[in-house]
Amino acid sequence: MQQAMSLGDPQVTPTQHPLVGEQKDIQYYGSQARGILNSPETTGMPFWSINPYVGCAFGCAYCYARYAHRFVMERGTLTAEGAGSDGDEVLPPWLAFERRIFVKRNAAEVLRRTLRDRGSAAGAVQRGETIVLGTATDPYQPAERLFRVTRAVLEVLAEAKGLKLVIITKSPLITRDLDLLVRIAQRSTLTVHLSLITLDRELLRRIEPRAPTPESRLRALRRLSAAGIEAGVNIMPVLPGVTDRPDALAALVRRIAAEGATHVNPSPLRLRATARKRYLPFLAAEFPHLVTRYAEAFAHSHEMPAGYRDGLRRFMKQLCAEVGLQYGTPDERAFEPRAGAAWAVPDAPMDEAPPPPAPQLELLST
Ligand code: SF4
Repeated sequence: MQQAMSLGDPQVTPTQHPLVGEQKDIQYYGSQARGILNSPETTGMPFWSINPYVGCAFGCAYCYARYAHRFVMERGTLTAEGAGSDGDEVLPPWLAFERRIFVKRNAAEVLRRTLRDRGSAAGAVQRGETIVLGTATDPYQPAERLFRVTRAVLEVLAEAKGLKLVIITKSPLITRDLDLLVRIAQRSTLTVHLSLITLDRELLRRIEPRAPTPESRLRALRRLSAAGIEAGVNIMPVLPGVTDRPDALAALVRRIAAEGATHVNPSPLRLRATARKRYLPFLAAEFPHLVTRYAEAFAHSHEMPAGYRDGLRRFMKQLCAEVGLQYGTPDERAFEPRAGAAWAVPDAPMDEAPPPPAPQLELLST
């Protein structure tokens, strides 16, 4: 079985990663992936996954995927001058995730080899197990303009038939590859999930400082839909007290429907240890009036209380029904966690303590 490259592997050192490009304050390092298809067994997720980049320049405050950059985090000494240099600017791990990006330059070549192989990865995906592109970092982040690794991966996937492919992104850059997406959709099942949590541009800039604007994502949604690609929107995460005003959510869902989406997939914020370390200081700086309520809500679990989750689910289902959108993903089963599987977040689970008392649904109307 092909194994995903592990950045925590002791064989991988910064000096093995040459500087291959720069964009403003972001530095890119080339890496040679030994495997590119991450298996469900490796990640604990119920699908195969591909991430062409490690690290993500969009810098969302709630990002749970910073753990994937743990090699840099653990080392904690990557300098502004480059990996392995003697420069003296040390980035904190959360910022290194956003500014020091690893580029799996051989991803397409490794994927082609894997799919030709008769091994279990090729067999499983050819039997119809889902492949998700962009589970840990955005495959259309700014790096993709320079390196086109995601496009190269899609070119390989376009050669195959009968795959089930899902792409998750916040970037309208995905429309650059419409030609390939259309070709893939003719031979395989393809669903695109654009991620958008609010229509409020200024609010979004505070939460996702370097991600594309809401309007540009909605334009991308319209173009994908017009091209016949099944495309919906992940409203993930819904941030309690920040993006969960009912009128704002209703406006967002109506707008998504107007742009031709097929589905909406909402989920409230989860705060496991890695996300918590970044999100809570962000909250204290930007929304200090919410700090105490978050402390209470997340005191015993990485999830909001069940009542909040149920209330949000009911509310969003009702909205979707009103505008004729499917609630949830078209391929819901592909996203169900395997029995007994932990999701691919190596943080200590925080939900072993007894559940907190009654839900605070009024956060929905804060
Ligand atoms: S786009 Fe996704 S991977 Fe990138 S920072 Fe935002 S949440 Fe994290």
